[in-house]
Amino acid sequence: MEGRSCKICLEKVELWNEQCQGCGYHLVLEPDEKLQARYLRAPSLGALFWTQGWTFGARLYLWFLLSLIPVFGLIALFVCVFFGRRWSWKYGGWADWEEFTERMKVMDALGLIWILGLLIGYGWLRFSGGL
Ligand SMILES: [Zn+2]
Repeated sequence: MEGRSCKICLEKVELWNEQCQGCGYHLVLEPDEKLQARYLRAPSLGALFWTQGWTFGARLYLWFLLSLIPVFGLIALFVCVFFGRRWSWKYGGWADWEEFTERMKVMDALGLIWILGLLIGYGWLRFSGGL
C-alpha cells in the first residue's frame, strides 16, 4: 500500500489523510480506508507502556535504538505513541493490513502486561517489606 493520488491535482496523498496536502481537496474514503485511517491515527498504548519492546515489535528499529538512550527514550515514547502506528505501517514492510494489526494488538497487550508486571512487582516489593 503506497497511498493514493488526489483526483484534482494528482499529488500523492498519504493513506491516513482525508485531505489532499496539495490542494486541500477533501477525499472521499471508502469505509475500509476510513477504518484504517482512524486506526493509524489512534495513539498506541503499547508504545506508551513499553516503548523499547513496542518499537522493536513494530519494526521501527531506529526508534528502538533511540529509545535505549535515556533522554531520547522519552522523546521516542511520545512520538511513537502518536505517530508510531503510521510509521510502522509505512516503513514496517508488512505483508498486509491483517499482519500489521495483529502485531499491533500483540504489542499493545505485551505493553499492558509489562506495565502491570512492573506495578505488581513494585507493589510486592513495597508492601512486603522488601524496600
Ligand atoms: Zn490535490
